[in-house]
Amino acid sequence: MKQIILFLIFSFITISLFSQANITENELQDHLRFLTSESNAGRPPGGKINRKIVKYIINDFKHAGIKSYHGKYKQKFYADLRVYEDQPKKDHVKTYNVIGYIEGNDPKLKNEIIVLGAHYDHLGMGGPSSKSDKRNTIHYGADDNASGTAALLEIAEKLVSQKSKLKRSIFFIAFGAEEHGLLGSKHFVNNSVVPISQIKLMINMDMVGRLNDEKHVYMGGAGTFPNGVEIMTILGKGQGLNPIVHAGSVGGSDHVSFYKKDISVIGIHTGGHPQYHTPEDTLDLINLEGQKAVSEYVYQTVLSIAINPDELHFIRQD
Ligand SMILES: [Zn+2]
Repeated sequence: MKQIILFLIFSFITISLFSQANITENELQDHLRFLTSESNAGRPPGGKINRKIVKYIINDFKHAGIKSYHGKYKQKFYADLRVYEDQPKKDHVKTYNVIGYIEGNDPKLKNEIIVLGAHYDHLGMGGPSSKSDKRNTIHYGADDNASGTAALLEIAEKLVSQKSKLKRSIFFIAFGAEEHGLLGSKHFVNNSVVPISQIKLMINMDMVGRLNDEKHVYMGGAGTFPNGVEIMTILGKGQGLNPIVHAGSVGGSDHVSFYKKDISVIGIHTGGHPQYHTPEDTLDLINLEGQKAVSEYVYQTVLSIAINPDELHFIRQD
């Protein structure tokens, strides 16, 4: 235990001294602005808008130097969308997960993969999952989950600047169609581009843009890998945050699809709010400074685990 703490402190110091591709509030805001723009109309799965968002994510990966795995960033799948009960036919649309890749440097540990994920879709113009009586109004989903998507892009950029230190490999996955029943992550785990046994940890960010004054960052699943609760507590405090770390309470977003396949997971968020699943979940309510701190926290987490050669294995939580 003492060794882990020393390791974490050491990596925290060296890494803060040498990092270049910083996570900035400005860059987070640029991503949020694009994702929540009127023209993206609440990011519903399928069609032209979906393709435009996927293109944006791929371009950002390319720009940052994040490679594809085996030449393909896009993982296509078909999604049956949730419809109102009185609608006889389900909408069946083509949508995508977007996968970026950094290969680890250790000849053995590079075969172990850490997945960092966030869903990029939202409710479009509302639909049956909306909590608002305003139908046919854009549901911007700034917190849910433009925030996680923006964090994913920024963390990826910063991690690639530390590439030479990484022992394990990393997948960055922007999932499609989460709001329709975790469809993107379900598709991924059932059609994984690597044998699923190689995935040692999945960290998911869903709603990370509304850090409160007490700086509470909530997470479930930290007990699903060795020393997870301690690691998440130490690193959170190192960022000046107040992490509320649950060993179990795995939760309800894309990481659940991985947990069901006996993969260690952490689901991270900054808490619920009255604007959840309404048109009022907008950019002006995002705490950018807070989102930056949470992004740095997740960055430190992925980095520490990708560097630290300690054995990782799945621990079931009930
Ligand atoms: Zn969400």
